[in-house]
Amino acid sequence: MRAPGERHTVTRAAAGLALVAVLALPAAGCGREPEAGKLKVAATIAPIADFCRQVGGDLVDVEMFVPSGASPHTYEPTSRQMVFLSDAGVFVHNGLGLEGWVTDLVGKVGAADMVVVDASARIPGRELIEAAGHEPGAEPADAVYDPHVWLDPNLAILQVEAIRDGLVEADPANAGTYRKNARLYISELEELDGYVKTGTSAFTARKFVAFHPAFTYFARRYGLEQVGVIEELPGREPGAGEISRLIDLMEEQKVQVVFTEPQFSPRAAEAIAAESGGSVVVRALDPLGDPDDPETATYIALMRHDVGVMSEVMK
Ligand SMILES: [Zn+2]
Repeated sequence: MRAPGERHTVTRAAAGLALVAVLALPAAGCGREPEAGKLKVAATIAPIADFCRQVGGDLVDVEMFVPSGASPHTYEPTSRQMVFLSDAGVFVHNGLGLEGWVTDLVGKVGAADMVVVDASARIPGRELIEAAGHEPGAEPADAVYDPHVWLDPNLAILQVEAIRDGLVEADPANAGTYRKNARLYISELEELDGYVKTGTSAFTARKFVAFHPAFTYFARRYGLEQVGVIEELPGREPGAGEISRLIDLMEEQKVQVVFTEPQFSPRAAEAIAAESGGSVVVRALDPLGDPDDPETATYIALMRHDVGVMSEVMK
């Protein structure tokens, strides 16, 4: 794969040649073969890939870019994913600057007639929460809002609608199926919203510290409070001063729950818990999910799982 710095200077033709070279490589180490006759859909993160599968059903072959355990903020696509992208019919990203690496990638490698879907484009500005210096490397204009909108099922519904329209645009012959699948799935998401509302309303603790500001929209929707985060910029570990300020804040606000994330190191959270002398509990809360783990394989399973994790320590 080309070094990131080189990407900016590679012409479209040169990128094409590089792809031919990649295609000629033996298949060793590559994943499954693309499924013939299906609309190829490239999607960045697990929840977005799941929305594409739910709406596309049997008509689509979805390639999820950011694997479980990787951070969408700093991800580098593999050469196999670049090949997939070079003849994908649709590319879907979360938007709002979450995947700072996509803009360049799509322009350089994406098929000329590919439909690009910014899944957050339909979310009205009044629903968006301003980010506190979130995305390293993102254009300032893209980094204004917190990008973790999918963790509010009501905003996820708007993402599903954007994906539905993208699939319809790329494959109008099957518009009826995409619309029907989306309708059914949206009713499941409305049900999920009710489930989360009921689950969280039983919490006696309303405040928590998150690993990074991933649960801002979730907290707002369900009346919880993300009082602080360990890493404002994910991937940049906090210094001793920041940790002790966070511990003070937690004492002041009587916060006893710290969530880590499977994508990042739990070290700082464990240090905070050790410092608290046993009054602070640490649990892993996954904002993305993992298609290979039945507990969090779909977006709906992930959300139910996360409510379960929260219940253990906030009820
Ligand atoms: Zn994030």
